[in-house]
Amino acid sequence: MKKDNTIFVTTPLLPSLEEFYDCLKEIWDSKWITNNGQFHQRLEKALCDYLGVDYLSLFTNGTLPLITALQAMHITGEVITTPYSFVATTHALWWNGIKPVFVDIDPTNCGLDPDKIESAITPRTTAIMPVHCYGKPCDTVKIQAIADKYGLKVIYDAAHAFGVEVNGKSILKQGDMSTLSFHATKVFNTAEGGALIVKDAETKKRIDYLKNFGFAGETEVVAPGINSKMDEIRAVYGLLNLKQVDDAIEKRHQVAIRYRETLRNVKGIRFFDDMPGVKHNYSYFPIFVNAEEYGMTRDDLYFKMKERGVLGRRYFYPLISTFSTYKGLPSASPENLPIATRIANEVICLPMHHELSNEDLSRILDLIVR
Ligand SMILES: *Cc1c(COP(=O)(O)O)cnc(C)c1O
Repeated sequence: MKKDNTIFVTTPLLPSLEEFYDCLKEIWDSKWITNNGQFHQRLEKALCDYLGVDYLSLFTNGTLPLITALQAMHITGEVITTPYSFVATTHALWWNGIKPVFVDIDPTNCGLDPDKIESAITPRTTAIMPVHCYGKPCDTVKIQAIADKYGLKVIYDAAHAFGVEVNGKSILKQGDMSTLSFHATKVFNTAEGGALIVKDAETKKRIDYLKNFGFAGETEVVAPGINSKMDEIRAVYGLLNLKQVDDAIEKRHQVAIRYRETLRNVKGIRFFDDMPGVKHNYSYFPIFVNAEEYGMTRDDLYFKMKERGVLGRRYFYPLISTFSTYKGLPSASPENLPIATRIANEVICLPMHHELSNEDLSRILDLIVR
């Protein structure tokens, strides 16, 4: 039962407590709590099957695979990235002593604008780190062509892109590596958790060393690794959630259909339609408020909704490039990032999850339609 009638922007997908308890009993009996236990192995395999990828390593969250991917490929110098993301994307570069170079975004998918990447490349550039923002695929073809031309690595922050496919192929196969987050707020969650998707068995082996202090055997340490292993409790929670994630995504799809149906007739509100050939995961439903056409600013609408108990999220506002650590970088100036700056001031992510009722949706939409 809800305590009050607040509508939250999201709610975690939770496994059945009874089933979870039975699995916990098995873990208790086995006394194998972490370190590549049976549920960890089973979740890696199940995720490879579900996602249609060949090599995946589980992590404790979605930030450490970003940091570890950069470590594994010895990325240094400068990396081109987007200011329009969750702050972890840029932090992962900073933790590796890499200088982030912000490039503006494409308003049609909120991902890096490939046409603006080349002019940001310098002799120190070693990689590109784009984000499939809201699970909408970046222009991976153009990005890869630039990477190939300049000999750059590509690491996709695919935290939003669980299960997304382009022409029947997982988006997670693009670039050199891709990362996922299984945080409680994501489409598929393990409370906290994440994964790194790589292209071959050798690389997976190295990643598995790196996430376990660099241990390659009982007494051998082959690299300065970190501890980022997922434990058995969250692995089994993940296995149970994987059984119901398709249903949850379909419920989100229905929410998106309802939002679009109504908002299509509202002047000054832009949103995304499905892209041809793409299997979406409906992880977020961002709307973009054009204050002049809509007759109200984004913030006025956001706070009006909040006052009435409808919690959207200004996701992503403010831009990463405006935070104190990064704002001094030459590439962080708003003049370099006009599209991202505008979109950050227009966006509200509407409530989007598997438990929204028709009544909830009417309440949300009544606040927006004018
Ligand atoms: C959630 C998220 C992360 C970080 O994931 P955690 O699991 O919270 O560490 C990284 N990048 C993006 C784009 C995210 O949305």
